[in-house]
Amino acid sequence: MNRRNRGIFYLLLFIAVGSHFLATGASAAAWGLLALQFLLYPQLAYFWALHARDQREAEHRNQVLDALWAGCWIAGLGFPLWIAFTMFAGACLHMVVFYGPRGLPLVMAAMGLSAGLVWACGLGRAPHFDTDLRTTALSMVSLTIFFVTYALDGYRRAMDQHRSEMKLRTQFEEIKALQARLYQQTICDPLTGLLNRRHLGKALPAAVDAARAGAGDGELALLLLDIDHFKGVNDRHGHEVGDEVLTALARLMQADLQPGELAYRHGGEEFLLLLPGCSRAAAFDRAERLRQAFAGRAIGHQGEPIRCTLSCGLAQYPEDGASARELLRAADHALYRAKDKGRNRSEACAPDLV
Ligand code: GH3
Ligand code: MG
Ligand code: MG
Repeated sequence: MNRRNRGIFYLLLFIAVGSHFLATGASAAAWGLLALQFLLYPQLAYFWALHARDQREAEHRNQVLDALWAGCWIAGLGFPLWIAFTMFAGACLHMVVFYGPRGLPLVMAAMGLSAGLVWACGLGRAPHFDTDLRTTALSMVSLTIFFVTYALDGYRRAMDQHRSEMKLRTQFEEIKALQARLYQQTICDPLTGLLNRRHLGKALPAAVDAARAGAGDGELALLLLDIDHFKGVNDRHGHEVGDEVLTALARLMQADLQPGELAYRHGGEEFLLLLPGCSRAAAFDRAERLRQAFAGRAIGHQGEPIRCTLSCGLAQYPEDGASARELLRAADHALYRAKDKGRNRSEACAPDLV
């Protein structure tokens, strides 16, 4: 029980029992006891609990003591129902809030024991269950204030919990978004925005497996593209212009992508298209379209447009390779052949099949 709740409860009981004293008459000693029990004792109990080695254990002891005192007062006053009910309900509520339902039998036993002892020792008043209207009303008000105080505590705790849950959820969403962004950065080339070789390392074997399982009619095409004499572009116009050429080709590749197809910057000025479900002839057409579009595109540079060309090697699953490695090697061979044959052209790994 915290200091505020204990203080409030005992103060309210002081007023209700005081009202009962006024209605039934009480000695100065009884008033003194009342003040000691309901005004001083709660502060002492709080102080003891605060300085105890195990505060929770001390507070639990205090609550059992509260129940014992309450039993004494109930018997001492002659069992006035409303006061007894207020003390009993208050003690039960305190106990359950802090120690759960297992504390309830303890409260009942302590109250019953002390009330029985006081009664047996002849220290109690003759039973008189009624209280006057003012005392009854004060008991009701005491209980209501007491319940509302606890309900307010519960409400504040629930709201605090709700707020921390919302905050946690927002932080969780932010972390997820950050993770997604970080992952995106690990699989994307920062210059062109195309996927990188790390992504290809997983996507290509997966695409081969899917084609082997029959996806896309069991067909899969790989286009390996390399810009011709790109070093010369860098040397003549500088690396910034070279970067513009790279991004221009990336844009062209992306513009032509169909669902399920993936475009990669394979490294340097080498690019790759992964085309699931694409036949050899269709893939060759794609390579030629892209090559011609790139060759026809002028990249503006201080009034002096730059034109570049590319060479392309095509490999097809399963004819040119049954695994990711074999397909890549086949596409590389085809690309070398395109370079050997004079560049600015597309070559299939097995040209006679196109
Ligand atoms: P080939 O026709 O045989 O492919 O000749 P090439 O000059 O295109 O090939 P080479 O391998 O000799 O040169 C590739 C050049 O690409 C060298 C390197 O500086 C340049 N390069 C690689 N990455 C980048 C980049 O991110 N930006 C720029 N501007 N240049 C790059
Ligand atoms: Mg090149
Ligand atoms: Mg190269």
